[in-house]
Amino acid sequence: MLSKRQKKHLKSLFSKGEILFTAPQILPYGEDSSGLKAEPWAVALPRSKEEIVALLSFAQEERIPIIPRGRGTGRAGACVPVGGGIVLSLLGLNRIIEIREKDFVVVVEPGVITGELQRKLSQRKLFYPPDPASADFSTIGGNVATNAGGMQALKYGVTGDYVLGLEAVLPGGKVLSLPSFCHKNVVGLNLSKLFVGSEGTLGVVNKIFLKVLPLPRASLSFLAGFSSLSQLTRSFSLLFQEGILPAALEIIDKSSLEAVSKVYTLPWQKEVEGVLLGKLLGEEEALGKEARLIKDIFQADYFALARGQEEAELWKIRKNISPAAFRLRPKKLSEDFTVPRGKIGEFLSLLREQEQKYSLPILAFGHVGDGNIHTNIMYEPGKEEGKAREVYYLLLEKTLELGGTLSGEHGLGISKRKFISKQIDAETLRIMQEVKKVFDPFNILNPGKAF
Ligand SMILES: Cc1cc2nc3c(=O)[nH]c(=O)nc-3n(C[C@H](O)[C@H](O)[C@H](O)COP(=O)(O)OP(=O)(O)OC[C@H]3O[C@@H](n4cnc5c(N)ncnc54)[C@H](O)[C@@H]3O)c2cc1C
Repeated sequence: MLSKRQKKHLKSLFSKGEILFTAPQILPYGEDSSGLKAEPWAVALPRSKEEIVALLSFAQEERIPIIPRGRGTGRAGACVPVGGGIVLSLLGLNRIIEIREKDFVVVVEPGVITGELQRKLSQRKLFYPPDPASADFSTIGGNVATNAGGMQALKYGVTGDYVLGLEAVLPGGKVLSLPSFCHKNVVGLNLSKLFVGSEGTLGVVNKIFLKVLPLPRASLSFLAGFSSLSQLTRSFSLLFQEGILPAALEIIDKSSLEAVSKVYTLPWQKEVEGVLLGKLLGEEEALGKEARLIKDIFQADYFALARGQEEAELWKIRKNISPAAFRLRPKKLSEDFTVPRGKIGEFLSLLREQEQKYSLPILAFGHVGDGNIHTNIMYEPGKEEGKAREVYYLLLEKTLELGGTLSGEHGLGISKRKFISKQIDAETLRIMQEVKKVFDPFNILNPGKAF
């Protein structure tokens, strides 16, 4: 808890921004979209770098934990103040500082909403490809701190692939300045990349230099339904063998389709076991040619194409999965396990086996091209929770046996931190903790998170 003296001093640090102490104001900042929550001691809403510097300097002197926060859409509880402390919301630093069209670089503050940046850039025919499904409400700062992926990661990579440089305030108030307008830069250690995916444990990112691309001239989406899972996985492998790399390639399995069918009329007559939903970006003519090739390769039981404005209709199936899932059961255990691309068939068959064995709906959907399958184990609270957890642990172990990773894009936060030693050996983990000590010797920044 904060003393009267500390509160008084904290108030004096904010002139443009503010600091909140009362329960109704601060409680919403104690949770994220993982459903985990804890009560912060205070919430700081700075409006300048100087206010962050002053806060981090005082916090280190007083050993007060600081928990950086973007929009709180994280899935792993990484911005939840377990153990108390001051939540530091970056939403007040939300300027697009500079768009350098000739350099294909944009400089932003961390509180900029990703989708808003994408729209602003597209008006200038520029393209920022990372597109987490939360793009309309998550922040660039949060995306950097979690190395957010998204549908277009298959062709264009993840957030970290676009971070050229950044500025961060470190515990104690020192500023680490790593600006870069160059798309290539190999001078010294790449400390900017160390911040990517660090889940707010090393410093508070207050400025980000991002690479952007020329905006593709046309887009086309395809939806293919398959009557068997093996045909789907075969088609998916064939696509790559034929040298086709879509911008996005998503899988929606039978259980996910069953959920969606409760809120949306699916377009096919005959039942399908799963669909592949993809997007191509590029030149109008080339896209048409590629789409015809995909249709021939797939030999799917259902195949539809859409261009431009009409594409949104095809993507409605994907967008409806998460809300529709609750039509099957009221609660879910949701994960972003990721396996090597060559193991996807095995992973999907495993999910199907467990679904039958435990009589629980297990929805599998998402970024199949990256091997990053969102797995939702649906259950009735109380009655089915025990077996849902049993399947969850089994899938976690099997993912690692297949050479996979505990998280493809959501991070470990607090929800999966306890499993880290299953994936990372003790010596490597020790080195990570030593690195943290260099930036944060008194462990005041987002303590107890990630690693
Ligand atoms: C509907 C939905 C769909 C989603 N889809 C995707 C998806 O497709 N791909 C994907 O990768 N994720 C997805 N997510 C997860 C989430 O949106 C991302 O992890 C996102 O990057 C979090 O951004 P945020 O602004 O909400 O960050 P927060 O949740 O507020 O914080 C996340 C982490 O970043 C740290 N942090 C935030 N700002 C800073 C900063 N300026 N400096 C230092 N640390 C900071 C926090 O301490 C915390 O560790 C989804 C979430 C939802 C709810």
